[in-house]
Amino acid sequence: MKTRLRLLFIFLCSTTLITAQQPKKPTSSEIYESIKKLNFLGSVLYVAAHPDDENTRLISYMSNEVKARTAYLSLTRGDGGQNLVGPEIRELLGVIRTQELLAARRTDGGEQLFTRANDFGYSKHPDETLAIWNKEQVLSDVVLAIRKFKPDVIINRFNHRTPGTTHGHHTSSAMLSLEAFDIVGDKTAYPDQLSMVDTWQPQRLFFNTSWWFYGSQENFDKADKTNLLAIDTGVFFPSDGLSNPEIAALSRSQHKSQGFGSTGSRGSQIEYIELIKGELPSDKTNIFEGIDTSWNRIEGGKAIGDILYAVEKYYDFKNPSASLTELMRAYKAIQNLKNEHWKAVKTKEIKDIIAACAGLYLEATSNTNQTTAGSRVDLNIEVINRSDANITLSSFVNPNGIKIDKNIPLDNNTRFDFKETLKINSNQEVSTPYWLTKKGTLGMYTVTDKSLIGKPETPRNLNVTFHLAIENVSIPFTKPIVYKTNDPVKGEVYKPFEIIPEVSAKISEKVIILDTDKQRDIEVIVTAGRDNVEGYVQLAYPNNWSVYPEKQKININHKGQEAHIIFTVIPPKEQSEGLLTPMVHIGDNIYTKELIEIDYDHIPFQTVLLPSESKIVRLDIQKRGENIGYIEGAGDVVPESLRQIGYNVAILKPEDISAENLSRFDAVVIGIRAYNTVETLNFKQQILFDYVAQGGNMIVQYNTNRRIKVDQIAPYDLKLSRDRVTDETAEVKLLATDHEVLNFPNKISPNDFEGWTQERGLYFPDEWSEDFTPILSMNDDGETPKTGSLLVAKHGKGYYIYTGLSFFREFPAGVSGAYRLFANMLSLGKNDINSPNQIKN
Ligand SMILES: [Zn+2]
Repeated sequence: MKTRLRLLFIFLCSTTLITAQQPKKPTSSEIYESIKKLNFLGSVLYVAAHPDDENTRLISYMSNEVKARTAYLSLTRGDGGQNLVGPEIRELLGVIRTQELLAARRTDGGEQLFTRANDFGYSKHPDETLAIWNKEQVLSDVVLAIRKFKPDVIINRFNHRTPGTTHGHHTSSAMLSLEAFDIVGDKTAYPDQLSMVDTWQPQRLFFNTSWWFYGSQENFDKADKTNLLAIDTGVFFPSDGLSNPEIAALSRSQHKSQGFGSTGSRGSQIEYIELIKGELPSDKTNIFEGIDTSWNRIEGGKAIGDILYAVEKYYDFKNPSASLTELMRAYKAIQNLKNEHWKAVKTKEIKDIIAACAGLYLEATSNTNQTTAGSRVDLNIEVINRSDANITLSSFVNPNGIKIDKNIPLDNNTRFDFKETLKINSNQEVSTPYWLTKKGTLGMYTVTDKSLIGKPETPRNLNVTFHLAIENVSIPFTKPIVYKTNDPVKGEVYKPFEIIPEVSAKISEKVIILDTDKQRDIEVIVTAGRDNVEGYVQLAYPNNWSVYPEKQKININHKGQEAHIIFTVIPPKEQSEGLLTPMVHIGDNIYTKELIEIDYDHIPFQTVLLPSESKIVRLDIQKRGENIGYIEGAGDVVPESLRQIGYNVAILKPEDISAENLSRFDAVVIGIRAYNTVETLNFKQQILFDYVAQGGNMIVQYNTNRRIKVDQIAPYDLKLSRDRVTDETAEVKLLATDHEVLNFPNKISPNDFEGWTQERGLYFPDEWSEDFTPILSMNDDGETPKTGSLLVAKHGKGYYIYTGLSFFREFPAGVSGAYRLFANMLSLGKNDINSPNQIKN
């Protein structure tokens, strides 16, 4: 743990993206590595689709061994996946994965870039991906990333020549990168960008291949390697005491929400990259061959190189500050460079080195981590020089641009503290991820401010600037205001300093399902962002619904305090759905957003503002049976959803599965991937099948076809496949139109398959015994019909049902048809008016 924390601060050059983090405190050898990096003027851009696609061994090698400026362009932020560390999904998961990528880059020394493309879920083919993404916009963003970052070399993670063999997002990332390579240098391509950036032409483009892409090690050994470069990334860094693969593993382990903890290795490790565009280097280990990566590559660079190569050569590990006079000369010369790109890059790098060599510590902390526009906050400012260099604090500029002259000489190791009160502008924008401020589409985020496109996070604009004179050269250092506190367990804890609205509100439940026309009480939680909030709350609701009372007063005394307010909602008689949004009126302002906080140890504290809305659904639904036993698998919210529509759902642990316990249930439902994750179920299958034979209903939701931990999934032959239907709008044909499951107690029609989300289903069986009746048929575009999504078999007196339909995704989204169909599955065999379990609706 200690090593990991230390590593976060190791790489000076990775710090362009660190915002509101613990300050870096580099060691003498880390400063030296940064000086070497300062003297390398070459860059490489790695391109793929998702957080976790990136090869951290290659990124770390390029950054830490080659010393190249290295970035990872992830087209998406990974909204589509599952979260192994907490409840956040979709856009909130994208916020977590964005921060995990930044944490990975702080570890491996890279930088992080994005496009506006949204990870909308699994896609089988780039044609589908590029139809859902706005291809022109994503290509434009890739071009913009290249024009901004100006890489000499691009490396794709995926093969652009093999569509359909991997996730469509993957192949698309390689195709777009290739397409961008050909047009980035052309002034007529995306000319609107040229007000922000110049054109640029990278020299080479590679594909980061491996034996895996050849099917086997044997095939790879035989393959023609003329166009392949082989790079040994297994180098050891004595200054860190770590091998490159060990750093890469620490970086990869930041992807905690995906469970990608990784163990490092030592010793030689070859990475292969295949040349796709540009000239093949004769040195098959050097991607920069023929590219000038010295200071000579820029006009005016030679004189700077003369100074800085000497600084590198004569660096004193015992006294880094001995380099300060020369570093300040170089800093001054860099300010005169005509090349704005390298000027900006190298100014940032050398300033970090100068601060580190001087042992400078410059910090402005606030007395709170969250405040509102128009408020006042107290700042504590600490300034210290820990070197013999001649340093003066000339002035201090607060975030409102007010300059305060200081002229304080900073003597070696003598701390200078002062306090300031900051009035936050009344029009100061709230802090939230910029890509979530406007409603996007399925495939794209909407970003109105073009200058933000590609940035990993919203730039911090509450910054202070310290103007120093070091060895009589003036130099400014800009720092974001941070919040710092001491936690009795964790010790020093930093949080970003953020602006929140004076009030935020949410409804406790995100989806509210009403299975009758009875009224329901809804709780609205209003949270104050400042002291003394006074106003009233209303609910916005769908047309044919009613809500009372119309408005209610709120009066909250303290910042952070909540008011819980109850509204009564009356649904219409017929099936209906819509959105409920709390509207809080304070003075002339109306607030309709919910404030979400994300707090994990491995990433900075995140504040996210999203539209506060809950889906409300009046279901036209009939049910038979009332007691459901639920055997949990990999985790889903199906039990809560079934409770919402009036079932009694009991969670059954594997050890509780016995004939006697099962006999009290009208149906037993198996959670998603239970047969992949719960080994002990193998010993319970026969008991469950016997329960069915005695007249029970057993519903098994999807399992993957690999790593099945039970010998027999069903009482009859059933073989799972990888068949899936990813298009959530794919037409659904009713095959067994007369089957009870489509008719009782709810008449199922194609309408019930409207409004589904993310996908139809996955891992459908493709072979089954004739005891099963296939109920539905569906397929993605251009594929054969898949009939295994819902299979029903009579077994003894009861029913066994296997379904790969994604009920676990549809229920939390409040999809009525999914509820109606599931109710029929639970009601199978109860089409008998004398049934003791019949419930009247
Ligand atoms: Zn991926």
